[in-house]
Amino acid sequence: NTFIDDEDLEHLESRPPVVTIMGHVDHGKTSLLDFIRKTKVAAGEAGGITQGIGAYSVDVTVEGEVHPCVFLDTPGHEAFSAMRARGARVTDIAVVVVAADDGVRPQTLEAIAHAKAADVPIVIAINKIDKDGANADVVMQELSSHGLMPEEWGGDIPMVKVSAKKGTGVDSLLENVVLVAELQELSANPERTAKGTVIEASLDKARGPLATLLVQNGTLRKGDIVLCGETYGKVRALMDHTGARVDEARPSAAVQILGLNEVPVAGDEFEIFDSLDVARSKAQEHAEVMRQSRLAAQAG
Ligand code: GDP
Repeated sequence: NTFIDDEDLEHLESRPPVVTIMGHVDHGKTSLLDFIRKTKVAAGEAGGITQGIGAYSVDVTVEGEVHPCVFLDTPGHEAFSAMRARGARVTDIAVVVVAADDGVRPQTLEAIAHAKAADVPIVIAINKIDKDGANADVVMQELSSHGLMPEEWGGDIPMVKVSAKKGTGVDSLLENVVLVAELQELSANPERTAKGTVIEASLDKARGPLATLLVQNGTLRKGDIVLCGETYGKVRALMDHTGARVDEARPSAAVQILGLNEVPVAGDEFEIFDSLDVARSKAQEHAEVMRQSRLAAQAG
């Protein structure tokens, strides 16, 4: 993890996995995310209505123990491509959805290639098993011919049959995500200042620039001075996926923040500074570097 420094090693604590759902268009990414969000996001929080901040946390219970998991809500999203282009490592586990009535398709292979290149473990969701013509065995066959051997057949890739429409198998899928996460022994140092990646950003006419930050190390707090690429500012408020104000965001949490001077770019990394002046001059330096590289690109 590029966000962990040597000084963190003595203070590491386990953190929840950050999960992304990928796969071919129409194979059911959105349906699966919707089902998980509707049924698993802790009820009661702001009436259970989730805000589109680009990520949400889900509690998965395995053998009586509760394991939080953070899902990035960006299937096939431009922001996710931007993050990939910058090589940002924002996910710990990739759930690759394959429709059982359609099988492995080009974007399935692309998703698998991305996950492998980033060394991110894969869990396969064989979706639409409720449909006539669904054939999970064919999908498993195809995947094994592409180097992914199902656990069921003695390999190391969990493949779970689900119906995102009916909800069948989703609990088992989430359990497998938790088991894969446990093997990774994910950790971070909550004692330090926050570092991470911008996963979504927009301009709110009334409130100003809004950015969702994924905290990948440390703890982000109200009042922190944050630098994200060419933008900076003092964090005025933090909101979770229910829209509720929170005081801090610990490792793996995604929070929407207010207080930046401009809208940052999804995929940019963020860090915390002691002084607003330093953050401003770093932002200006970054802007100048970006300007130079644009000029060089035009000239070249
Ligand atoms: P995405 O493009 O991967 O996000 O796919 P969507 O979630 O938009 O799903 C594409 C279509 O497949 C929609 O019409 C869904 O209703 C349908 N669909 C998704 N999951 C299932 C499923 O488990 N069973 C059935 N029968 N249809 C599904």
